Amino acid sequence: MTNRNLTIDERLGQYLLDNSLREHPSQEALREATRNHPHAGMQIAPDQGQLMALLVKLIGARRTLEIGTFTGYSALTVALALPDDGHLLACDISDEFTRIGLPFWRAAGVAHKIELVLAPALHTLDARLAAGAAGSYDFAFIDADKTGYDGYLERCWQLLRPGGLIAIDNTLWNGAVARPATSDDTAALQRLNAKLHHDQRFDLALLTVGDGLSLLRKR
Ligand code: CA
Repeated sequence: MTNRNLTIDERLGQYLLDNSLREHPSQEALREATRNHPHAGMQIAPDQGQLMALLVKLIGARRTLEIGTFTGYSALTVALALPDDGHLLACDISDEFTRIGLPFWRAAGVAHKIELVLAPALHTLDARLAAGAAGSYDFAFIDADKTGYDGYLERCWQLLRPGGLIAIDNTLWNGAVARPATSDDTAALQRLNAKLHHDQRFDLALLTVGDGLSLLRKR
């Protein structure tokens, strides 16, 4: 089969941003604050954020999950797309990274929508399930340790309502998934992609946005 996707070189990537990016000043400022961070590559691209914000609005999401917050750009982006009484449960284990985002969440006036829980995400999600939250979320973004993805996916599936959407980041892993795996991360993503391909619990699209973004609509 022929791959008809564009090759995005520097020039076209810049054109795309110059002609479509709509950022809140706090999003731009948070990207600036993260630019020189040693793990800056963990931050999602702004055009990917804009797509996620659009999806959140399209499905009318009010309650959302995030597994892997880093310095908070994706949480800020989703929170800005939520109604004022919307809620985002942000799961991360790093106080050092997430505290970078807090002032920007506050400046954007969305901090009240974000509940940050610093603990292993599986514990946090299992606790919500035990508390009766199954089926009560509309959207989930998974962007954390790749070997943990399958466990996060299964919890998110339980926590989402039918028609809810899960977005999984890095599913093309800089192209490594198409070659024999040389790391546990790559192998985990390959297993996940193979599982999702025929998983009848979801409608599926794997987008060549950012580093690969899998969209799963819960049936
Ligand atoms: Ca990522």
